Amino acid sequence: MADCELCGAARPTLCPVKVRDESVILAYPKGTWRGINEECLDRCHEANINRVPIKAKKCDLCGTRNVPLFQVTVQIPVFQEPYHRNSNKAICESCFEACEDTIKRRIAEKEESPHH
Ligand SMILES: [Zn+2]
Ligand SMILES: [Zn+2]
Repeated sequence: MADCELCGAARPTLCPVKVRDESVILAYPKGTWRGINEECLDRCHEANINRVPIKAKKCDLCGTRNVPLFQVTVQIPVFQEPYHRNSNKAICESCFEACEDTIKRRIAEKEESPHH
């Protein structure tokens, strides 16, 4: 099991998103992988379409500061009814693009699968 980097929900597998983490960009100039679950990936995709600006200091996925940030509402799992609560995350444009890349890759993988 692994925890989603956005909502913290544990899943057997996560969707890898390649982000540019400024704090380690010298060590990983091509980007670093962040794991988020399918629900958060879908919400990032929706947020990328709607583009609601949010005031925040840094991107919640890559940690980049001083860039335009957009609101992504994710569901944080909790142990009481209704077992989740909404939480607003701030995501930057480059992470949105990274999410779109992950979505495209997943669609391509599904189409290549012999089960289809
Ligand atoms: Zn999540
Ligand atoms: Zn980011």
